Amino acid sequence: MEKEYALNIEDLKVVYKTQHSVVHAVNSLDLKLEKGKALGLVGETGAGKTTTGLAVLGLVPNPPGIVERGSIFLNGRDVLKMNKKELRKIRGKEVSMIFQDPMTSLNPVLTVEEQISEVIRTHNKVNRKEALEKARQMLEMVGIPGERGSEYPHQFSGGMKQRVVIAIALACQPDVLIADEPTTALDVTIQAQVLEMMKALKEKYNTSMVMITHDLGIVAEICDEVSVMYAGHVVEHGTLEDIFDNTRHPYTRGLFDSLPNMEDRSQRLKPIKGLMPDPSNLPEGCAFCTRCAYATEQCEKVKPPRFWRNDTHYVECHLYSENDIQKGEVLKNE
Ligand code: SF4
Repeated sequence: MEKEYALNIEDLKVVYKTQHSVVHAVNSLDLKLEKGKALGLVGETGAGKTTTGLAVLGLVPNPPGIVERGSIFLNGRDVLKMNKKELRKIRGKEVSMIFQDPMTSLNPVLTVEEQISEVIRTHNKVNRKEALEKARQMLEMVGIPGERGSEYPHQFSGGMKQRVVIAIALACQPDVLIADEPTTALDVTIQAQVLEMMKALKEKYNTSMVMITHDLGIVAEICDEVSVMYAGHVVEHGTLEDIFDNTRHPYTRGLFDSLPNMEDRSQRLKPIKGLMPDPSNLPEGCAFCTRCAYATEQCEKVKPPRFWRNDTHYVECHLYSENDIQKGEVLKNE
């Protein structure tokens, strides 16, 4: 059966142009999100994950940001070809984004129910009273008593505020939810609660979700597929099983090796050596070549092609060829 995509990004390129340099934030990015599924977009800070999310909502700040090429199909329509009015219509209704820090997402001078009802009234023909009623229902749904809707953001804890942000994002039941590190600013115990709640809401509404994170634990918990992003580009993509049990890219391997081993606490963490390349001066070939233990001259000069291990799993790395992509022995023997 042909797969149906809620979001399909192809060959996206986003740059930030300043007087002295051009920052290549997103480079030939491909990303596909199946309807009703959750995709983990994983990578270090500065990999271009947030810019990708902003591009989907048509919110890349211009200037200095410019979407240079590519397409972003949301429910079959290209977001990059929409005018401002069309973009306003889809935000909140077809696609919503939850940002990392709830403090900056909420308006301090409006009650939380006013903020939720504002989104509801933008997209539905309801009067103020009906919208407020629905806003209180949304609060209940994210575990906050409805009567607290008349309070202001500063009266809520960090975890509660993030729940309010999630209620706003889900108020109009968007087809696609982009969650940008939604639990990073929260305590560990609250993180687990918020994640659990997001998982339940995703199931309830059959929302398709992009979970932007650097935490592979969150991916394992909530996602169906994973795209590993490095220097603005997806270097490996697959299902959870492909990525966790059949890792192929040296960078993905590095991400796993830098995680603490809960069974053997005496083991030292192995962080990936070095830093991500300067995005205004990316290497000609593979962007990971300055940190990769397997880098060759070819890696420095030539962009690695894409090799498919199966229908769901690909990697872009010179270590492989069409024939030996199945084996992956090189990484296992390290
Ligand atoms: Fe390492 Fe070369 Fe593969 Fe890049 S292409 S990840 S430098 S082996």
